Amino acid sequence: MAVLKSSPAFLVLAFAFAFFLCFIMSTGSYVYFQFVQQWPPTNCRVRIKRPCSNPRPLQIFTIHGLWPSNYSNPTMPSNCIGSQFNETKLSPKLRNKLKRSWPNVESGNDTELWEHEWNKHGTCAEQTLNQMQYFQRSHGMWYPHSITEILKNASIVPSPNQTWTYSDIVSPIKKAIRRTPLLRCKPVPALPKSQRGPKSQRAQPNSRPQSQLLHEVVYCYDYDALKLIDCNRTAGCWNNVDIKFPP
Ligand code: AMP
Repeated sequence: MAVLKSSPAFLVLAFAFAFFLCFIMSTGSYVYFQFVQQWPPTNCRVRIKRPCSNPRPLQIFTIHGLWPSNYSNPTMPSNCIGSQFNETKLSPKLRNKLKRSWPNVESGNDTELWEHEWNKHGTCAEQTLNQMQYFQRSHGMWYPHSITEILKNASIVPSPNQTWTYSDIVSPIKKAIRRTPLLRCKPVPALPKSQRGPKSQRAQPNSRPQSQLLHEVVYCYDYDALKLIDCNRTAGCWNNVDIKFPP
């Protein structure tokens, strides 16, 4: 075995394999897309260090991103080799549409968010969607299936105190899009120091929270980003923990 390992043929093969792995990782290999829409009030509530620029966050679900993903490896490909974001590749008409569907709800700088999402995620599926198509397709996914409307029609509306189960929220969406979406939650942020109770009564970091905030709804699409498919339930919210949908 030792002789084999030092043989030139083995070294060439090992080098070729390593090169192949690097190539696959940098060009992005993915199986399906996750189209992630978020609830801005939750986004802003969990940002404790730097609050959102708009004190009254939008009350509609907006796009977070379209992420090429894999089932086998939960860490999706990211920052792949490809063309970097170039705003001039987006027509003014599309930019106006994206300002509604894909706003930066944190700093207010929309272009900065589009740039981050394209460079981190879009580049990993450039073989399927070029920059214009990536943003056009995402806006097209947002427009026809408004989660805000689906939930409203099911009487699930933002409320400071009411709670829902995972299936209360998933069911009407599943009925409307005929595919299983995925929910992502965030724990309710800790109270400021002055309002906290004794340490012994506080939840430990990473422990199961008493309630959680609905943060994102994920729709899954096939490799070509054309057909909705069922999402595989992965850890997105804590099981059996009530979900709040805050205004
Ligand atoms: P990602 O790298 O795609 O997982 O996105 C995570 C980063 O995007 C974090 O820094 C978030 O704070 C930021 N982010 C997510 N959604 C938004 C949004 N709607 N507006 C501004 N920043 C966002």
